[in-house]
Amino acid sequence: MNPIFAVFLTIFRLKRTCPECKRDQVVPASKRLESVRCKFCGADVPPRK
Ligand SMILES: [Zn+2]
Repeated sequence: MNPIFAVFLTIFRLKRTCPECKRDQVVPASKRLESVRCKFCGADVPPRK
């Protein structure tokens, strides 16, 4: 696979939209299965199903 495409795919999978402020953010791979705190508003952002 094209390495640049692989990086893009990884970032796409780790991207989450905050339910409160609707802003996108990239979650670290280690937090993939956990809720994270929105870096913009502080709300909990649950993992994508
Ligand atoms: Zn937010």
